[in-house]
Amino acid sequence: MIPIIRTVADLRALARGWRAKGEVIGVVPTMGALHDGHLSLARRARAECDRVITTIFVNPKQFNNPEDLKKYPRTLEADAELLGTVPVDAIFAPPVEEVYPEGFITNVTMQGVAQPLEGYMRPGHFDGVATVVTKLFGMSLADKGYFGQKDWQQLQVVLRLVRDLNVPVEVVGCETIREADGLAMSSRNVRLTAEGRAKAPVLYAAITRAAEDIRAGHADRMAIREAAETMREAGFERVEYIELRDAETLMPSDDPRRPRRMLAAAWIDGVRLIDNIPV
Ligand code: AMP
Repeated sequence: MIPIIRTVADLRALARGWRAKGEVIGVVPTMGALHDGHLSLARRARAECDRVITTIFVNPKQFNNPEDLKKYPRTLEADAELLGTVPVDAIFAPPVEEVYPEGFITNVTMQGVAQPLEGYMRPGHFDGVATVVTKLFGMSLADKGYFGQKDWQQLQVVLRLVRDLNVPVEVVGCETIREADGLAMSSRNVRLTAEGRAKAPVLYAAITRAAEDIRAGHADRMAIREAAETMREAGFERVEYIELRDAETLMPSDDPRRPRRMLAAAWIDGVRLIDNIPV
């Protein structure tokens, strides 16, 4: 069984011992309810580092919607079993009071890449992410941190964060892992009904089609409008955004010479899904 660590002091003691031996430490921050997407990050860390810590912490600061926080799946026992197949060296699963003890008042606030899209739709979300990631890096003494491209904007936020604050962690972005029908794996997918689950792959299919059309020379706006229509016709209640952005700054971009990314968020069946692809 992988040891489950609950306190910062215990995590630090472990990490200090590893560092003293010159071992490279990789950290994989997660909120649990693990699936193959998370495990692919852990496996990559396993291949590239001497020691791997997976953190499991449902970070209240990054939830702008209290209902979403309450409903977030929590499956620590099953998670530990899955991590045993990698295997990682330690699981850090602290209680909320360990991360945010009484009197906690410091927050990491970001502008720029943290402002549009998810930042706009979910006020406070990326400040919550930036704060907890800064803390997890500090707690784990990690050399490398592993993040999924599934949350593309989050990945760009974390890359910017470590540059701006001189955090000595190398941030590694990992490919999005998908179900056989294209749906990006997500802990929230378990909240879909059978009907919603059947329609959900249309999100990826629609943006893939739009990206192909744009590459073939179609106008950006037309291609995006068609994707949104396809999704609404398939039964998505709400398409929050489908945007073609500069892949790094997340600002609007019509410069095809710079790497661009299509990002989307939409609701099906009361569940909010996000996805993104290169264009
Ligand atoms: P979460 O538990 O949702 O906060 O995700 C933890 C980490 O796993 C983040 O870096 C995510 O981007 C990454 N992740 C989540 N889903 C996937 C996926 N389908 N493929 C690759 N990485 C993922």
